[in-house]
Amino acid sequence: MTSATKECDYLVIGIGSGGIASGRRAAKHGAKVIAVESNRYGGTCVNVGCVPKKVTWNAAAIAETFKDAKAYGFSGFDTPTFDWPYFKKKRDAYVKRLNGIYENNLNKDEIEHLKGRAKFVSNDEVEVALEGGGSQRVKAKHILIATGGRPTIPDIPGKELCIDSDGFFDLEQLPKSIATSGAGYIGVEMSGMLHALGSKVHFFIRGQKLLRSFDPMIQDAVTTEYERQGVNLHKGSQITKVEDIGNGLKRVTYQDAETKNESTIEVESVLFAVGRVPEIEDLHIKDLGIKLNEKNHIVTDDYQNTSLPNVYAIGDVCDRGFELTPVAIAAGRRLSDRLFGGKTDSHLDYSNIPSVVFAHPEIGSIGLTEPEAREKYGDKVKIYKTSFTAMYFAMMEQGDKGPTAYKIVCVGEEEKVVGLHILGVGSSEILQGFGVAIKMGATKKDFDNCVAIHPVSAEELVSISPLHYLYQNPISCRTPQSAVLVNIPQVTMT
Ligand SMILES: Cc1cc2nc3c(=O)[nH]c(=O)nc-3n(C[C@H](O)[C@H](O)[C@H](O)COP(=O)(O)OP(=O)(O)OC[C@H]3O[C@@H](n4cnc5c(N)ncnc54)[C@H](O)[C@@H]3O)c2cc1C
Repeated sequence: MTSATKECDYLVIGIGSGGIASGRRAAKHGAKVIAVESNRYGGTCVNVGCVPKKVTWNAAAIAETFKDAKAYGFSGFDTPTFDWPYFKKKRDAYVKRLNGIYENNLNKDEIEHLKGRAKFVSNDEVEVALEGGGSQRVKAKHILIATGGRPTIPDIPGKELCIDSDGFFDLEQLPKSIATSGAGYIGVEMSGMLHALGSKVHFFIRGQKLLRSFDPMIQDAVTTEYERQGVNLHKGSQITKVEDIGNGLKRVTYQDAETKNESTIEVESVLFAVGRVPEIEDLHIKDLGIKLNEKNHIVTDDYQNTSLPNVYAIGDVCDRGFELTPVAIAAGRRLSDRLFGGKTDSHLDYSNIPSVVFAHPEIGSIGLTEPEAREKYGDKVKIYKTSFTAMYFAMMEQGDKGPTAYKIVCVGEEEKVVGLHILGVGSSEILQGFGVAIKMGATKKDFDNCVAIHPVSAEELVSISPLHYLYQNPISCRTPQSAVLVNIPQVTMT
């Protein structure tokens, strides 16, 4: 049954990171907003992304701490047990609470929300196939597409036996053994977490390095570190077939890219994290002639306008180079400020967006990689880099020490910082503050003028001397250069 067409100022399709942020901001500006969602409220981030991932990463970090505890004199942690079903139940309950909070927030802001799948019937009208049956048409002055993306699994024999990143969060048990595939950040994170929690991980990558879109220093350091930790990294190879061989096991056939030789392993689970595609098919927007790029992402201009009048897109459904929650949120809020808040120039500046990888150890990156900077600025580029052993590892045996590697990419006489790449304990937290400085246009001298916090790894970022640049000396000088005695940071160790 179809009810009478509803009308509103702003129709938001997808109640994920970007959709809810944009819808709520529009409502705060007084717009009448209707939002549509076909799945659980909160989208990818809350249900099958950042949130359950970070909770799992925390568990993995605790497992690593148990391993390290012995070096600090603790005993009794040699064989800790991990109750995955208990952990999963609690993690699921936390996510469910967040789903409820999302719904409450919509109600608080008086946003009408419909549960169902939306499709365009014209430029300004959408039909929602409602969850409980029937359909509802909504006509809107402005329509936002915030439908995100979904993971894909390559079309190989046995693909139905494999899981993707969504399936990772449905695992009822920690697999004793698993084959993973995908050198991007999701593959690296999931392989790292599984390994730290005790799975035997066979990690397949087509190239020779992990995180190939990151700075080469990061690629090298994380690849070497995963191998040091004992992840079975199958470089230059890809999974070509998966078979169920009973007893809860799967036979994985994989091929060496160069020799074309095939080999097999047997594992409990197979996980692909090889890419995501934009969620657009059900919207029927191709029929309206919306402009898409070669990967089917919706093309937008700097103001999130699509090629259709009064139709906008934000987040993972449009490829702006950063498929991240805060990016979707920031773009969505700015769009609503522009459409309903009178800020006619409001839009997201996509430069210098910080991003982190919850690998083992963590990785942070902002701005240009060294090759990107050299391509753009040629010999005006100056690199400062250092690698060292963080004090956390001082108590460990040589083979148990993890790496720390930092690189600052500078340009020109004034040494403006155009890129920062860090790997090591605490990198995700470290990067946020440095991100502010870089977004403000900090130079190397500004970094050096900030007195170091001691003893932390990040002090190296405000202390890398030109010696590192000249000699690539692996032991950095900790003496701050020409310090100005204002804003001296202090830490209290408790
Ligand atoms: C495993 C994993 C880990 C991640 N970790 C991080 C992280 O640590 N940090 C970070 O910043 N980002 C992370 N991300 C990325 C982040 O989750 C996404 O960038 C973000 O969720 C994108 O927000 P969005 O609003 O574009 O889409 P989404 O949050 O995906 O929301 C889209 C919503 O639209 C709904 N929808 C789709 N089509 C329709 C339709 N036709 N009708 C109605 N509803 C529809 C979907 O059901 C979904 O709920 C991670 C992603 C994954 C997969």
